[in-house]
Order: sequence, then structure tokens, then C-alpha cells
Amino acid sequence: MEPSLYTIPVQEIFEPMEGCPFCRLHSMLEDRCVDYILGAAMMEPSIRQETNRMGFCNDHLSLMLQRNNKLPFALLMQSHLEHLQKELLSGSIFSSPVKKAAKSAEQTCYVCNRIDKAFDQIMSNTLVMFERDADFRALFAKQEHLCLPHYRMLMAKIATRPKKEAAAEIKAAQALCKKTLDPLCEDVTHFTKMFDYRNRGGDWKNSRDANERATWFLTAKPPRG
Ligand SMILES: [Zn+2]
Ligand SMILES: [Zn+2]
Repeated sequence: MEPSLYTIPVQEIFEPMEGCPFCRLHSMLEDRCVDYILGAAMMEPSIRQETNRMGFCNDHLSLMLQRNNKLPFALLMQSHLEHLQKELLSGSIFSSPVKKAAKSAEQTCYVCNRIDKAFDQIMSNTLVMFERDADFRALFAKQEHLCLPHYRMLMAKIATRPKKEAAAEIKAAQALCKKTLDPLCEDVTHFTKMFDYRNRGGDWKNSRDANERATWFLTAKPPRG
């Protein structure tokens, strides 16, 4: 049951053609994982053990808190905090709980870990589709954006592919990234010019949210409202 939760058909990710397809994939995986943890996984002791052991990053704790699913969140916290009590606050200086406490337990996150694994697999599936299916190549080219972190991840994945296939994939990924970066550069430049007194009352064109879009492009995360 649980692994199928993170299997999303590539077509489903690319069909909406809005924004960066991999940003969409990331938030789909994130939603599924968080809903699962605060839902069905409450009945799965093995998942509870894993979340106790790995903990959560700041982003994912905040996301779960925002769900306003108060009782499941509190039960999750209760289990995690009790685990930490046992693991970190007992034993002598030479025992393993103390050694463990010296390491940063907050460097791992159950949600990030699940997303990374699924993401990697789906990105590989994307390249297989790209190689085999001309319709998918056309759909890929029609995407609105490709953000920088996902461009870099895609390029790293393409670098492991046979040279023959990689050439077309690099070209397509670069074209999509350029489609985002070129107008963004133009808009940020226009935005700065609007602060010149000679342009007072002028047309902002598409530049009003240029800073926010630049932030999203660089981080793959929309700015917090
Ligand atoms: Zn992205
Ligand atoms: Zn995380």
C-alpha cells in the first residue's frame, strides 16, 4: 500500500503545463506523504518507528502543523518526543545514547527521505519516456518553466545516461530553463529601472513580481506569504 502512494505517472505531472513540472511533482509527493503520516500511517507501527528515528525538518514540521490535524499531529509528537527521551537523556558519557545525542538528529527528515527516493525514480522514468515517446517529447517542450534546482537535478541525471540519448535531453532541458531565465532576467532588469525617477509613472510590464519569481526560480520554493 505505502510504496504505491509515491508512484505518480509521468504524464500526470506534465499534463497541466503550468509552472515547473518537477516543482509540481515535489509538492504532490509532499502532500501525499504528509497526509499519509497524519492519516493511515498512524496505524502502522513500522512507519511510526521510522518517523521516530528520522524526525522531520523544519519545513515539513511546519507543513504538518498547518494541516490543522491536531490530534494525529500531537500523537506523532508524543511518540517522537518519548523516543527522544529514551534515546538522548539516559546513559553515561560513554554509552551510545550520549554519543547519539552529540550528533545532530535534526539532519534527517522522514518526509524529505521519502520524497527524494520517489523523486529520483520518477525523474528517471521521465527520461525513459523522453527517449521512447515522441508525443512526450513534445509535451516536455511545451512546459511553462523549469526552475534552477530541478534543472540541475535533471542535468545530473542526464549525465549518467548514454551519450546518444543525452544530447537531445540536454537540449530540451536547456531550452526549458532558458524559457524561464531569459524573461526573468528581463523583468528583474525592468523592475530595477522603475526605481529611476525618470521612469516614474511608467509601465511596470511583467516586472511587479520579478523578485518573487526570481526567488522561486533559484530555490524551487515559492516565497512564504
Ligand atoms: Zn522546479
Ligand atoms: Zn523534510
